[in-house]
Amino acid sequence: MRDQTSIKLREIGLKVTPQRQAILKLLKISRTHPSAENIYHEIIKDYPGISFATVYNTLSKLAEAGEIQELDIDPNKKRFDPCLSHHCHFYCRVCKKIYDVDDDLTLPKGTERISEHEIEAIQINLKGVCKACSGKGRG
Ligand SMILES: [Zn+2]
Ligand SMILES: [Zn+2]
Repeated sequence: MRDQTSIKLREIGLKVTPQRQAILKLLKISRTHPSAENIYHEIIKDYPGISFATVYNTLSKLAEAGEIQELDIDPNKKRFDPCLSHHCHFYCRVCKKIYDVDDDLTLPKGTERISEHEIEAIQINLKGVCKACSGKGRG
């Protein structure tokens, strides 16, 4: 059976195991920007023998290969995003949720090069209190 997840795993040089396939599947449908811990707690329900290191290493490899994005927005842990399109993130310091922000915030024109450095990627991290936590999301 040809399965997208096994093709991907082989592409980035990882041995295909049901555990790794489950990690990849879970990530691809995830919209909550999970941490390695979140994914570990989900995967262990179906694969009780899996170690945290396996989950963590698989995530690192996937991020290295550009299959998922690694976000530095949460001060406590790395978070992962399967959505590879350029978008900004908002981090709520109260509920620790990460929201996708569709507004296209980019650097002002002319700043693609700063101090002779060529900028290849920009991550815009917005932080604060989300509308649900500030009470404005109700009603
Ligand atoms: Zn919140
Ligand atoms: Zn995102």
